[in-house]
Parts: sequence; C-alpha cells; structure tokens
Amino acid sequence: MLQKNEIYEALVTDYTAEGQGVAHVDGCAVFLPNAIAGERVRLRIEKVGKTWASGKIVEILERSPHRVNRECPVAKLCGGCDFWHMDYAEETRLKAERVKGCLNRLAGENLEEVPILAAPDCHGYRNKAQYPVASKKGRAYAGFFRAGTHDVVENKRCRILPEETDRVKDAVMDYVNQYRVSVYDEATHTGLLRHIYVRRGAVSGEILVCLVVNGRKLPRAEALVERLKKISGFTTLVLSVNTKKGNAVLGDEFITLCGPGYIQDTLCGLTFRLSPRSFYQVNHYQAQRLYRAAMEQAGITKADTVLDLYCGVGTITLAMASAAGKVIGVEVIPQAVEDARENAARNGIQNAEFFCGDAGQAALALEGQGVRPDVITVDPPRKGLSANAIQAISRMNPRRLVYISCDPATLARDVALLKEKGFRLQSAQAADLFPRCAHVESIAVLSR
Ligand code: SAH
Repeated sequence: MLQKNEIYEALVTDYTAEGQGVAHVDGCAVFLPNAIAGERVRLRIEKVGKTWASGKIVEILERSPHRVNRECPVAKLCGGCDFWHMDYAEETRLKAERVKGCLNRLAGENLEEVPILAAPDCHGYRNKAQYPVASKKGRAYAGFFRAGTHDVVENKRCRILPEETDRVKDAVMDYVNQYRVSVYDEATHTGLLRHIYVRRGAVSGEILVCLVVNGRKLPRAEALVERLKKISGFTTLVLSVNTKKGNAVLGDEFITLCGPGYIQDTLCGLTFRLSPRSFYQVNHYQAQRLYRAAMEQAGITKADTVLDLYCGVGTITLAMASAAGKVIGVEVIPQAVEDARENAARNGIQNAEFFCGDAGQAALALEGQGVRPDVITVDPPRKGLSANAIQAISRMNPRRLVYISCDPATLARDVALLKEKGFRLQSAQAADLFPRCAHVESIAVLSR
C-alpha cells in the first residue's frame, strides 16, 4: 500500500486521457501531472485511492528528450493547457496512441497505427475563449480556472488565443475596474459579471463579445462599447443572462446591446452566421482539414441523401450539400438550427433541410417515415451516440457512416456497439484540433 507524502522512484510509461503521466509503484498506477513517458522520476504521493494514486514529481532522474522549457509562464497553474512541458512531436504521438489504444481495447480492433493530422501551429489558434472573472482586494481580474478548482489564474497573454481576444478581455476588465462593476461570487451567489466569452472569426476577424451576467443589465454599457470599438474586428456585444447557481457558463437568455448579436465566418468556402449559443469548432484551420478528410472518406455522389446528426450551425451538412443530392441536418439547440437554416439560405443551398431535436429521436422518426440516407455523418458531444441514434443508424442501413468524435473512449464504445449491428470499421484517423491541450478529435469510417 502506498503511503501519502512518501517519496518513491518510478518510470513514467504512459498517459491518462487528461494528459497526466502514468507510473507504476508496487503495482499501483500513479498519476503525475507534467510527466513525460520514458522519464524516471522521484515522486511524492499526494492522494491514495483504491486502485490508483496521484502525486507530484519532486525530481526528474532521467529526463525525456521531449521535455522543453514552458513557453507559457502560467502553464503549470492554469487548467487550460496540458502539454507546454513537452514538444509537439510527443504530444501528437500520444494523441494518436490514445485513439489507437481506445479502438483496440474497447472496440476489439487490432490497429497497428492510427495516423494523426498534426497542426502546423500551436499558437493563437483558438477562436473562442471563456474567461472566468474574480476579484481580490478590490481589483477584478480574468483568466482561466486552475485545474480542478474555481481559482482564477490570471494570464496576461494566452498563447493559444489570438491577441485580439486577450485585448477584449483587457478592455472589459479595464471597464469593470474603472466603473466598479461587481464580480460574481459563487459562494454567496452575488455580484454581476461571471464570464467574458469572446468568439472571433478566424477568416472574417469579426468579434463577438458576450458577457455572462447574474442579472439583466450592464451599468455604463456605452463606456464598455466605446472601449471595445477600439479593437479591430469588434462586431457585437451581447449579455447572456445566467442567474442560476452551478457550473453552466451560459444562461438561456441573450440580450444584444450593440451590433447584430452574432458574427459571421467562412469555413470550407461557405459563410456561416454564428450565434453565441451555437457550437463552432475552435480551431478553424484544423477543422477545415478535419471536415475535408471526413468528406473525402464519405465518398458522396449526386445521387446520395446524406444525414448529418449533431449538425450545429450546419458546417458539415452544408459543406457536403454540393456533392450530394440532398442533405438533412439534426441539431438540438434551437439557435443553432436557426443559424443552420439561415446559413443554407446565405450560401444559396437549396437541397438542405434541418430539424431541431434530439439526434436519436429525430433519426428514429425519420427512419419511421422511410428516410434511408446513403451516407450518415455524426459528430456528437463527448458522451457519444445515444442508444436511439445507434438503433436508427442501424435500421437506416447507410452505405457508409462517418463518425467524427471528440472523445476516443466513447467513439470506441460506439464502434463496438455498431459492430454488434453488423458494421465494420474501415478506417480511423486522429486530428489535433487542440494543440497543447489533452483533447483529441478523431474520424472513424464504418460500413456494413
Ligand atoms: N457538426 C457540428 C457540431 C458538432 S458539436 C460542427 O462540426 O460544427 C456537437 C453538436 O451536437 C452541438 O451543436 C450540440 O449542440 C449538438 N447536440 C448535443 N446533444 C445533442 C442531441 N442529443 N441531439 C442533437 N444534437 C445534439
């Protein structure tokens, strides 16, 4: 049994899904942040669970050639990124291994290698930021949560965000401090400003600023707008009303204070309207590569009907429309569906139809109406496909299923379930949409 606060020596052999190193001491797995596979370390045990423990490195005895000096000064504290202590080659290796490991272990595959679409640049790629706001000794500040806590770590310049986004944060905080706008306090559920949410179109440069507030009004809003107008690309200011306790960032009501309430961006040659509530991939360059890879592998012809489940604002649906006979998108967030319909119109696309609802239920309903898509694409949130979705897909019997996933573990679980329904995995590929962070995206192509 490992002892808390004791020091042990161990070899780091692997990584967790969250990007921590894994070492084994006396047969017990020990999770170590900031560790790199291949390193021999002295570690201090901090927590002992039933089948695992966690600890911290106290000394690196054998250093990995992949270890680098952290470019971000707050990387060790900030819960935003996970990998500034290693080079990008090791990061992409471990991500590809993770996708492969999940498919082999959980879906009974026997893949030797899963290729990864690596990002050409790890800097400034995120088109969206949600900064929590805090205050100390009468001064308000914004940053990102420390891993596993709600302590806000201040960061002057986040390496994975474009400069304009940080400038918006600075302008908002400047205004907050000058006009003594109150900052939300979770413990007492008082105070106004909770989060600063910024989305910037990578191609258009248009910026949406959305302040999440515990209330419905912003004092001296015109003074804030004046500051924001000095930032190139600023397009719209929106309030998101969130008066609830809990961790959900956005509220359900949005109040536009300035501009149209949404921004536009271009993706895969199409223009998209993006409301604050709508999902939009955060890494524009890599998202385009991911969608192009998905489209190539979908092998769509003009005779095909394509069903795109979890379609968001219709990015994939509309990108496939010109190659297909007909495309149908399904999405649960009403604002995103409105965006998707508007986006079809904006791009002059007439063979697209969108439904608002749960993907599984809507797919079963479409199946019941006799809809038989030739190709189905799915891009679910981390929890993966529902039982309904799997059943509907199976009954619709598409020629091909293209599964885009942001969690290889649920992807592998669903591949296993689809295999029980007679599908076979044809190819799998990882894509790095989140450089320096532990999340990894992947595409799996299945057919019967
Ligand atoms: N394909 C889109 C969106 C992918 S993100 C793109 O690449 O931009 C996943 C989407 O699934 C989000 O838009 C989310 O709102 C939606 N979603 C989540 N749960 C859902 C459900 N049960 N049914 C339908 N859509 C859902």
